[in-house]
Amino acid sequence: MNETPRILVVEDDPRLLNMLTDLLMSEGYSVTTARDGQRALHLGLTEEFDNLLLDRGLPVIEGLDLLSKLRRAGVQTPALILSALGNPADRVEGLDRGAEDYLAKPFDIDELLARLRVLRRRVAATIPVLRVPGGTLDTESRTVAFDYQEPVLLSEREGDLLERLARRPSQVFSRADLLAEVFADADDPGVVDTYVHYLRKKLGRGAITTIRGIGYQLGRLP
Ligand code: CA
Repeated sequence: MNETPRILVVEDDPRLLNMLTDLLMSEGYSVTTARDGQRALHLGLTEEFDNLLLDRGLPVIEGLDLLSKLRRAGVQTPALILSALGNPADRVEGLDRGAEDYLAKPFDIDELLARLRVLRRRVAATIPVLRVPGGTLDTESRTVAFDYQEPVLLSEREGDLLERLARRPSQVFSRADLLAEVFADADDPGVVDTYVHYLRKKLGRGAITTIRGIGYQLGRLP
């Protein structure tokens, strides 16, 4: 891991927020902060982070509702809840509602940092559900789920191609890259265009964007 890890810290207590920000920056994190759940929801939906560090008791949208909303929108960023509510039932509720880890306040700084390091080791490649335009792709069942229409089952090749694009939604892929990565047994780059056509037929034209002269990219996410 040589990239600077990006973390979103959501905490309404300004002193604790400052303390966490200083601590995490000194540990090499790039820190983005929010002091209420609405702001955090906006940031979580529009920016990419490696970790979320969330308080539970937050203004506007409380921490677990915030996490549920992010998870429903397909945001799978590993989250650690930091809360004054620390009895076993509180922890279970936090984990059941989408957190990867839960630490009660007051907390030990070294333990917090160690737990965040563990979360960072959860590589994105192990996350089975990815955001795609209008819905989510379950890479295990190769099903695309939408909010307002029936789920769509993809063939193995269609699923592989869409997964490749969805794992790096901001990257533009050349036909040659996709041919080598998804259709290793084929040698005609036209097969890439054929499968893009199949996916657009099943999922709508906006599923995949053509980048003229280069190749393809996942369609715009909301
Ligand atoms: Ca609070």
